[in-house]
Amino acid sequence: MLHFSLSAHGQALAYLVSAVLFIFALKSLTHPASARRGNFYGMIGMVIAVAATLLGQEVTSYGFIIAGVAGGAVIGTILAMRIQMAAMPQLVAALHSFVGLAAVLVAIGTFIITAHPDAVMMGELSAGIVIGAITFTGSVIAFGKLQGLISGSPVKFTGQHALNAAMALAVIGFAVHFAMTGSVLSLSLMTLIAFALGVTLIIPIGGADMPVVISMLNSYSGWAAAATGFTLHNNLLIIVGALVGFSGAILSYIMCKGMNRSIINVVFGGFGSGDEADTGAGALAAQRGVKSASVEDVVYWMEDAAKVIIIPGYGMAAAQAQHALKELMELLVARGVDVKFAIHPVAGRMPGHMNVLLAEADIPYERVLEMDEINSEFPTADVALVVGANDVVNPAAEEDKSSPIYGMPILQAGKARQVYFLKRSMRPGYSGVDNLLFYKDNTSLVFGDAKDTIEGMASALKGSGH
Ligand code: NDP
Repeated sequence: MLHFSLSAHGQALAYLVSAVLFIFALKSLTHPASARRGNFYGMIGMVIAVAATLLGQEVTSYGFIIAGVAGGAVIGTILAMRIQMAAMPQLVAALHSFVGLAAVLVAIGTFIITAHPDAVMMGELSAGIVIGAITFTGSVIAFGKLQGLISGSPVKFTGQHALNAAMALAVIGFAVHFAMTGSVLSLSLMTLIAFALGVTLIIPIGGADMPVVISMLNSYSGWAAAATGFTLHNNLLIIVGALVGFSGAILSYIMCKGMNRSIINVVFGGFGSGDEADTGAGALAAQRGVKSASVEDVVYWMEDAAKVIIIPGYGMAAAQAQHALKELMELLVARGVDVKFAIHPVAGRMPGHMNVLLAEADIPYERVLEMDEINSEFPTADVALVVGANDVVNPAAEEDKSSPIYGMPILQAGKARQVYFLKRSMRPGYSGVDNLLFYKDNTSLVFGDAKDTIEGMASALKGSGH
């Protein structure tokens, strides 16, 4: 078979081009307007990286590679087409688990085919195996919690932290012994305990914190890839691993800041059950002194408003209400109402969740403002329309020192003249904490699926005809 192979220099140059494209991709992904371009840079970078690797001199036959790529492509395409937007975090968790497992298998494979591995190499292999194994089982548990296959509640028992610490020490001990002696028994024990550690580290973390955990595991998977890069002497893998490792770490930090929690508190705090508690249906509202309003009431207030601020949350994503919201926005703007969207950094179930959905519905970026930019505008707003958001506007975060969400920065929707919550019931948000804003004088709840309610508002506005 004719085999064209790339020289080592040619491959290094191609890798450099890929690395630069990946950096441009990350830069472009920081804004919705350039995100599509960022994805494109990433794809081109990946095509160059894969082609340069396959054409490298060390690749001698393509049979297994083609079979692997074909199988992966089929599974990846089916998964990507089937996945719901709200289930994206668990897909990401599943993909991280593959990165972790690949790092473990590559490291063990390299150990098997290397005739005389030295201590430095075995140290690198250990790093790849340990980080990869923790990433693999940790991601599988995160996937299971988010998919509802296992309970989202934190699993806690006495002596848990001591057990984790003992396992971590055992892993380090076996890794050092393996690096010094090449003992296959130490390698096996190190690998098995690292797999178990991934489980015991993630089970005590509540479902509500899973997105932060996924971002952390994303960071680990980057470091596992970088360690594999050292093992394989592949500079591109080292660079990309470091990019993923650092961006995952920075994202975890930003998310923790958005919830006013420390990463230590997320990992050891056991916060949030992940299973939204059903505290009753709409009838409960009156019993608890909560006002409810009809679609007509809201439209009456909004059509003559000067300024309306819309606060989307997880419920907008669940109801897929973004397109209906765009229509409502256009109708209001046509009546001279100033309409803005307020985005909390942890609204929804993953970073950027709301921005992606609003962009999908072609809502202009200039109307979409981040928390710090919009908070000063609530006192001048006639209506704050809360569309399936809950925790991100809960004043308990500012007023109730005993609340688990105390200290979390919030969107100050309560300062608007009128607040309307579009939701289906009295159920709390993801944190399971009751919302104090429901009980304020200027708040009313409009019960129903967010998409249905907004469509009803749009037709009432069209019908009111002035
Ligand atoms: P919440 O989870 O606080 O509230 C969502 C609300 O949407 C619920 O009260 C629910 O009420 C309502 N809802 C669900 N489905 C529908 C529907 N079809 N129609 C109308 N309403 C609906 O969401 P927020 O966005 O306010 O807050 C996000 C939460 O997730 C925060 O606690 C945050 O810390 C957490 N989180 C977010 C992360 C991120 O990256 N974005 C990461 C980690 C955690 P009802 O059932 O009554 O309809």
